[in-house]
Amino acid sequence: MSDSNWDVVVIGAGPAGATAAALLAEKGRKVLVLEKEKFPRYHVGESMMPYCWFTLDRLGIVDKMDQIGFQQKHSVQFVSRDGQVSKPFYFFEHDERASAVTWQVERMEFDQMIVDRAVELGAEVQDEQKVTQLIKDDAGAVIGVSVENSAGEKRDVFAKIVIDGSGRDAVVASKEKWRNRDPALNKIAIWTYYDGAMRDPGLDAGSTTVAYIPGKGWFWYIPMRNNRVSVGLVADRDYLYRDSRDPGEIFEREILENAWIKEHLEPGKQVGQYWVTGEYSYRANYCAGDGVVLVGDAFAFLDPVFSSGVFLALKSGELAADAIEMALEKGDASAAQFEHYGKDVCLAIERMRKIVYAFYHPEFNFGKLVKKHPHLRPILTDLLIGDVFVDKFEELFAAVREICDLPTELDYGFRVADLEATAGG
Ligand SMILES: Cc1cc2nc3c(=O)[nH]c(=O)nc-3n(C[C@H](O)[C@H](O)[C@H](O)COP(=O)(O)OP(=O)(O)OC[C@H]3O[C@@H](n4cnc5c(N)ncnc54)[C@H](O)[C@@H]3O)c2cc1C
Repeated sequence: MSDSNWDVVVIGAGPAGATAAALLAEKGRKVLVLEKEKFPRYHVGESMMPYCWFTLDRLGIVDKMDQIGFQQKHSVQFVSRDGQVSKPFYFFEHDERASAVTWQVERMEFDQMIVDRAVELGAEVQDEQKVTQLIKDDAGAVIGVSVENSAGEKRDVFAKIVIDGSGRDAVVASKEKWRNRDPALNKIAIWTYYDGAMRDPGLDAGSTTVAYIPGKGWFWYIPMRNNRVSVGLVADRDYLYRDSRDPGEIFEREILENAWIKEHLEPGKQVGQYWVTGEYSYRANYCAGDGVVLVGDAFAFLDPVFSSGVFLALKSGELAADAIEMALEKGDASAAQFEHYGKDVCLAIERMRKIVYAFYHPEFNFGKLVKKHPHLRPILTDLLIGDVFVDKFEELFAAVREICDLPTELDYGFRVADLEATAGG
């Protein structure tokens, strides 16, 4: 294949990019995925939402999830500021379909599995290929990308449409200066792994626990297979770095702030390094421009407290693939083709964003909400499982507003851009 003959070039082989690549290759499109890392590569983001099931099913890889043996996840539970452990939100109590069971995944294997599927369906995936520039025509439409491989060799690749699935590197949003940060959701995450830490019995063995550090932030506790647990701490920078910059010291200090986490980690042994990342939530001004579409974290990143990232990556990859297929059929890759795509993804993100804001509000807790409005528990569960592309949450959000303010919806992200004809972006 010459480098001027692709229907679609995808930047990044994460879940968003690889899903879009797989579904477009399945339609017979000539798809090239360019990934800067050597694959498979480590990635954080291990806890999935039940509604991931539908995209995985469309990709034809649900059975593979259990064959690989990823830890099954049946519920999520919350440890409140005063140490009370909520009744788990069991997904099957709400929806008995196969999608009620989800997974905790090692991303190295999960992401590789989607890439393998994309290749099986006909996409070409090249790793250690970093996209360095967008190539535009005289009118400003994106017509390709410049790439540099690990040996420093450069080349240009041309396609009818470029998909940006570059994750939090957000190649297009960075180059075009489209990234808008959400000032209220600016946290730091520190995480590591434990072997042999405590698991709750039976069905709860694979449950995600979100445990508040009173007034400050929260821990995630994600039991994975092979007796390993992913444990992370998310809080404000000033709080975390108040007396040390050492992630291990900070982590050990904070474990003492949460009795549930302390008890569960006690029998375990910490393994490997401590990882640290800034966790600013953001959204791009635009979901697309002429010849280019943004998916997954390259479009928007939302605080990971409800494990929505992989779900939104898979779903946006799927929706973008459908919109791109229609655009290619029409022979029109202009930005206007992608407005519906952007609107759908933004609406879903806004629903998740509201409950994320509520989570951080000192007056809010799920127990309080459900006690006052027991009939809203199913709709709250809908939100927590990822059934967020349907408009049914107004009563829930009205009830949440009785406890705390909710953010107004952002007025960007769903529109498409007029790209400037600055070659190289
Ligand atoms: C601390 C933390 C905890 C999280 N926990 C969870 C969780 O429990 N559950 C959950 O669902 N989500 C979680 N997330 C979010 C989740 O990790 C992301 O939403 C998800 O990985 C997004 O997938 P993606 O395909 O958009 O991007 P990615 O998975 O990041 O993939 C992007 C790919 O693009 C490649 N790339 C980047 N730049 C270039 C370039 N210039 N050229 C070529 N390739 C490039 C990268 O190497 C990468 O492989 C968490 C995030 C953070 C920060």
